[in-house]
Amino acid sequence: MGVLKDRFGRHLNYIRISVTDRCNYRCLYCMPAEGLEWIPHERIMTYEEILFLARVLKDLGVEKIRFTGGEPLVRKGLFPFLGSLRGFVPGVRTVLTTNGSLIPQYIDEVARSGLSGVNVSLDTLDEGLFRFMTRNGNLQDVIEGIRLLAERTDIPLKINTVLMKGTNDGEVETLLDFARTHGAVLRLIEFMPLDDSVWRKDLFIPASEILQRLPERGFWERMDNSSDHSAGPARYFRNVSTGQRIGVIEAVSHHFCQSCNRLRVSATGVMRPCLFSEEGIDLRPALLSGNAASVEALVLQAVNSKPQSYCHANTGATHMSRIGG
Ligand code: SAM
Ligand code: SF4
Repeated sequence: MGVLKDRFGRHLNYIRISVTDRCNYRCLYCMPAEGLEWIPHERIMTYEEILFLARVLKDLGVEKIRFTGGEPLVRKGLFPFLGSLRGFVPGVRTVLTTNGSLIPQYIDEVARSGLSGVNVSLDTLDEGLFRFMTRNGNLQDVIEGIRLLAERTDIPLKINTVLMKGTNDGEVETLLDFARTHGAVLRLIEFMPLDDSVWRKDLFIPASEILQRLPERGFWERMDNSSDHSAGPARYFRNVSTGQRIGVIEAVSHHFCQSCNRLRVSATGVMRPCLFSEEGIDLRPALLSGNAASVEALVLQAVNSKPQSYCHANTGATHMSRIGG
């Protein structure tokens, strides 16, 4: 098995693959209210292509694959696909990022999926604000999804909250309580300027400001997660009196490029070395040709083009829903 290392010595062992650009929500920070057309089905990677890609990636040393979207659960056949994947790339950990709304429909499949982690996005516990932030989502579906995940599975659960100033930044305490009662780790994510049509600088709030406002139930102590490969870009804190953990992802105010271990693949099969860069390498023709050596060569090209940090990347308008967050 190989090891994917880039020009700056970073070990790239984690890939995020978007299985669809489509979503049943249109979150304020992710998509414009109107005018984003879904990509035609024939341009989206088939599950067979993703299986093939996963095998090449495993041979190159990838240890963890996250499936994301758009909303991955809106794509038909996701769970049978995940079942086949387990046999195809044994030893590779598979994890999922979802808005949680369709978990109640698929809970039996999720429980049998062999997933090693599920991240559910949840920005507020206020019904009206939830509808506003997701542009018409139903909070109860997500709450039920999280409840079922906690009760019917033992899959480690994280709740991702994107902070927007004056919108949901007053809810951290309520979300912390909710996460604790569901055995989940809450992660606060800074609103990232990925798409000019949704970015609002006035709604940005640094995660450090939120940390200072954390309820004083005990003392939040910084955890050393430098050796925890699953920690990703999050900094974790632990409440010494309750043991509860909280993560913060400060992509904007405190960038973590030095320890970035990931590559992304869009639903159309474009490998993106950096979230903040427009640049990508189209793997699809090689996937369609079924030639593993060609796919591997393109992956290595993407690895070699990974910028040192996003300051060195060619930034441009990017829809998070198309590349999977
Ligand atoms: N639909 C799924 C979900 O919402 O979890 C998966 C895809 S979504 C694009 C992946 C993650 O990106 C979510 O946690 C979402 O909150 C986050 N995200 C989307 N746009 C963002 C932005 N502008 N800034 C920070 N996080 C963002
Ligand atoms: Fe959909 Fe997730 Fe984007 Fe919200 S963050 S619009 S749920 S893809």
